[in-house]
Amino acid sequence: MAGEADAPVGRRKFLSDAAAGTAGLVAASNMESTGQADQRAREQDAGQQAAPSDVALRVKALESILVEKGMVDPATIDAVIETYESKIGPRNGARVVAKAWVDAAYRKRLLADGTAAIAELGYGGAQGEHMVVVENTPAIHNLVVCTLCSCYPWPVLGLPPTWYKSAPYRSRAVIDPRGVLREFGVTLAEDVQVRVWDSTAEIRYLVLPERPPGTERMTEEQLAALVTRDAMVGVAKVSARGAAA
Ligand code: FE
Repeated sequence: MAGEADAPVGRRKFLSDAAAGTAGLVAASNMESTGQADQRAREQDAGQQAAPSDVALRVKALESILVEKGMVDPATIDAVIETYESKIGPRNGARVVAKAWVDAAYRKRLLADGTAAIAELGYGGAQGEHMVVVENTPAIHNLVVCTLCSCYPWPVLGLPPTWYKSAPYRSRAVIDPRGVLREFGVTLAEDVQVRVWDSTAEIRYLVLPERPPGTERMTEEQLAALVTRDAMVGVAKVSARGAAA
């Protein structure tokens, strides 16, 4: 099938990763407290990828059958995942950020109680995660990671990107955050303090990036179009370049 040949290998791999990651989140909020978290930490510390979860295996099995019977095109599945990963998901967070940029009272509420302020716009976790919003300033840069697995503020950012779940990012974000940021193209001055936030099943972090200069006359909608997923994880800054004036 042409679609199969065209589908990037990375995306095929991502499907199984994403299924595993989602299952991880569900399991985390429902039952991960002490023992399971410890076991997962041990498994991952050992540098081994944990065996796919039951849900991930079932998703994979269903996909295989549907593809085999010609009922779905793998390229279409990839496109849907790509959409949730980089388009639909992060748009919610971008609207939160843009509103905070133009509405000082909202920004204050957002930083005081992220969960409630994000819920004002209709976004919220069905699993009751607590959302904490951390603000980047000229003096402070915030970076979000989940060192244990892949906890991610999915109601505002959608599915986590593959790199977010990778062992190198999870460990190096803590050990060498400035180095990680440089690899993402962000070079911070020495006097900028870097704060690394370790997400958990209960607390998810969202970075409120700095509003770029030259955007004073933009509408909230135009501003939201500038905000990227990476900026809300803290591995990028928001740029006004290329924006519709
Ligand atoms: Fe996690």
